[in-house]
Amino acid sequence: MINQKKCPACGKWTDGSKQRCVFCNSLIDPQLIAEEDSRKRAEKSRQERLASESKFEKYLRKLKESDKPGYTLLFKILNTLFNIYMAVLSFFIWLIALISG
Ligand SMILES: [Zn+2]
Repeated sequence: MINQKKCPACGKWTDGSKQRCVFCNSLIDPQLIAEEDSRKRAEKSRQERLASESKFEKYLRKLKESDKPGYTLLFKILNTLFNIYMAVLSFFIWLIALISG
């Protein structure tokens, strides 16, 4: 009997020696699925981080480029606040991940 695996995406039995389902082309190896999943997640979070960073950095640059007195101080305060905000945010993300198991 040939090695058959049940496709997690479409539920059909497919050739287990292949990496992908012959019906829907989804990955059928759980390890490969997990790998692809984590890769996608890492890429997504990286892009989200880049997007939020560039937005914030644009704002910071505006402040930095301004030569009005007091703006350097404001920039430093904002920078510190942002760091605290990110720390709190990542703490809550960690907490939610912990609760949901
Ligand atoms: Zn399938």
